[in-house]
Amino acid sequence: MRAFLGRLRVWLCVLVPMAWGPAHAAEQVVVQLNWKHQFEFAAFYAAESQGYYKDAGLDVRIVEGGPGINVVKEVVEGRADFGVGTSSLVVDRARGLPVVAVATLLQHSPVALLASRAQGVQSVHDLAGRPVSVDPHTRDEIEAFLLASGLRPPQIQFVEQADWTLTALESGEVAAKAVYLSNEPFLIRGREHQFLLLTPQSAGIDLFGNMLFSSRAALAARPDVVVAFREATLRGLVHALANPQAVTDLILDRYNTQGKSRAHLLFEAAQLRELTRPDIVEAGYMSPGRWRHVVDVYVRQGKLLADFELGDFLFDPQPSTRVPPWLVAALVVSVLGLLVALLVVAKVRGLNRALTVEIRDRTLAEEALQTRETQYRELVENANAVILRLSPEGTVTYFNECAERLFGFSAREIIGRSVIGTIVPAIESGSGRDLGEMIRTILDDPGSGEHNENENMTRDGRRVFVRWSNQAIRRLDGSVAGLLCIGQDVTARRAMEQELAAHRSHLEEQVALRTAELAQAKEAAETANLAKSAFLANTSHEIRTPLNAIIGMTHLLLRSGVSDDQAQRLDKIETAGQHLLEILNAVLDLSKIEAGKLSLERTRVAVNGVVHNVVSMLHDRAVAKALVISEEVQQGLAPLLGDPTRLQQALLNFGSNAVKFTGQGGRVCFRTRVMEDTPTDQLVRFEVEDTGIGIPADKLGQIFSAFEQADSSTTREYGGTGLGLAITRKLAQLMGGSAGVSSEPGVGSTFWFTARLAKGDYMPITGLLPDPDAAESIIGERFAGLRVLVVEDDEINREIAVEMLAETGLLIDTAEDGQVAVERVREADYALILMDMQMPRMDGLQATLQIRALPGQADTPIVAMTANAFAEDRARCFEVGMNDFIPKPVEPGLLLRVVLKWLERRASGV
Ligand code: ADP
Repeated sequence: MRAFLGRLRVWLCVLVPMAWGPAHAAEQVVVQLNWKHQFEFAAFYAAESQGYYKDAGLDVRIVEGGPGINVVKEVVEGRADFGVGTSSLVVDRARGLPVVAVATLLQHSPVALLASRAQGVQSVHDLAGRPVSVDPHTRDEIEAFLLASGLRPPQIQFVEQADWTLTALESGEVAAKAVYLSNEPFLIRGREHQFLLLTPQSAGIDLFGNMLFSSRAALAARPDVVVAFREATLRGLVHALANPQAVTDLILDRYNTQGKSRAHLLFEAAQLRELTRPDIVEAGYMSPGRWRHVVDVYVRQGKLLADFELGDFLFDPQPSTRVPPWLVAALVVSVLGLLVALLVVAKVRGLNRALTVEIRDRTLAEEALQTRETQYRELVENANAVILRLSPEGTVTYFNECAERLFGFSAREIIGRSVIGTIVPAIESGSGRDLGEMIRTILDDPGSGEHNENENMTRDGRRVFVRWSNQAIRRLDGSVAGLLCIGQDVTARRAMEQELAAHRSHLEEQVALRTAELAQAKEAAETANLAKSAFLANTSHEIRTPLNAIIGMTHLLLRSGVSDDQAQRLDKIETAGQHLLEILNAVLDLSKIEAGKLSLERTRVAVNGVVHNVVSMLHDRAVAKALVISEEVQQGLAPLLGDPTRLQQALLNFGSNAVKFTGQGGRVCFRTRVMEDTPTDQLVRFEVEDTGIGIPADKLGQIFSAFEQADSSTTREYGGTGLGLAITRKLAQLMGGSAGVSSEPGVGSTFWFTARLAKGDYMPITGLLPDPDAAESIIGERFAGLRVLVVEDDEINREIAVEMLAETGLLIDTAEDGQVAVERVREADYALILMDMQMPRMDGLQATLQIRALPGQADTPIVAMTANAFAEDRARCFEVGMNDFIPKPVEPGLLLRVVLKWLERRASGV
């Protein structure tokens, strides 16, 4: 409707001027400007020069204004048809003057205040009580501005503005003066900082600028002229603002009564364009909202009453009055009717379409539903799972085909009957739970599904196992409608499991049986091994005793003076005896270690001393083969504790082999090195490197086993038992280490073992033993005539001992067993007792205990003589109160030295 009226207006605008066009004489129109010619009035000049007025059938006279000319008066009194005023026209109208606002030529008022900073004005408030110059055109607006800024009426001091120069302001005559944004700012270009421009907009006062107005009388007489003049002037305005250069030329050419410069006019053009913005707001448009604001400003100033109505003060440029009301009404009715008809048709068509779509959707949905239902039914019927549905009371309400096949009931037969007593025995045998109870549990907690496996019954009484998954079926309101049970026949699986379980338990039994047998066999083997070791230990001990006799006797015979021939034979006997002894000792060692009977001593170990001892022991043999033996030992070792005898034995085995298997002029090197150093112990590595025959790689793995030799010809060529390396490795293991070798045939071998030795202080060695010959003579000199008791069951050994001591001048008594020994000690006072360990009737340990119990026998030195030559034997001797220990076969030199040591101690009372 609005669009239609708009279009109608346009037609009329075009038609009306045509009506006055060539057919009529031009209408005379006078327009009164409110100031002198300048760009501010360019709209009129442009409309004139562009022929817009002429086209509209107007003959326009533009009358310049200036001081003393009251534009309102000119128009109201009919001397001019139009005037250019300000927003204050509304106040004039309220005062009763018949003015009508036709269009605004500036959307925003160009009026402002210019103050001089030199006068100390920093803000609008500094103008309180100070002179401000205004003229009739600007007075109202400036007053509204100052009031809105918070100044009270008495503080506002207006003076009449005499000119539009800046003289009064710069001389300090006035603190501020009213200016036009389009004019005075041009005059202060380059020194803007000296001034302060205060705009009413900054206080929320936003009035219209140049207002084109007319009078009621003019409007009544020639309304069409008002419309035509308005349209043509606004066209002129748009043209002027769009073409400032050309219009400036026009002003300079025809209207420049003020003698303004081109720059000044162009400056004005730019400022006015900014205040008008024809690109944003339709030229001339007066917003009723803005007008209400203007009215409010004047109401606040007390120049208008609050209930002031604009009424016909605002000219309506839409010439609706010229369209006959009946035409408008008819048009409105027809358009409305048309619209209603269109709406009804559209609605009906829309409904039709929606209905068609809905019918189609429903048909499709129903088809889909049917298809899905068929699919579900097929799924459920043909599912390879038993599916049944129960009422909350346990009555069967659905039974699928699979269920029929498994249980033998037809659906028709079972539906409506209780599940208990048909496919479920009254008391479940599988889980031991009553089914009714299970149903209640699921129904009590409808969210819960329950899985169970139980024994069910078929129609013919067969038992089947079914694994069930049960789920409560809920209605929309949440109440329980029944129970959905999906089951899988697991009878076959159960049978298999049972069979498997039976197998498993049988297997377990068999394993247990076999384990027991193995344990027995192992025990038997261990017992046998222990027995073997014990047998070997006993046998070797038993052999050592007669061997002792053989070696001892040989020694005595040699000393007693024999022919060379005899001496040679006796030497051979001694050598053979020594070799036999070596073998015996080795067998004894191994069997003891294996039987777990070997215990290690824990005494001071001088590691490098051990090496040195071994080297000295091998010295003669090495010299015989022109071998170079060297020692590369680690210095600065911590004081260590261990079993020096066993370390020496282990190293000697390597050393003897090295010497044995290295040819003339070869080299043997002994090394020691600390491999690990902890706060409590050190792991020491002993190494023997030779340049001997070496060992083939395939033999390296076996030579550490007992009785193994690298080559079967070894025994023939080099002798040996094949036990040395085995003993060394076992000893190293007993000492917390290990043993090994690297070797290259023809180049040489490096044998090594490690031993973990505890850190600790050791007992100092108490006095060095003198050499055997010296010992014999010292005893003779100092202790001849003292009594010594030799306790020994073996007659030959007894004799040997007596003979060994014969030259010392000691008086020797003998006893053949422990009991006799105790008797002897009761009867006589002995300076020393040499005590065998194993004897019939009473052994050495028992005898020692009894002797120590006799009065005055607490300190008598008792020295054990025994074939049981190791640490643990010693420990037992010391336990019962013996003082020292001589291993058998007794070495004469050692016997003499030990006897001397103890006689000396007894004498010194230590
Ligand atoms: P035995 O030396 O009494 O035969 P061992 O157990 O000490 O027994 O040595 C086993 C074997 O290892 C030796 O027979 C020999 O074949 C080989 N063997 C040991 N040490 C060396 C060595 N330094 N050089 C070459 N072969 C060696």
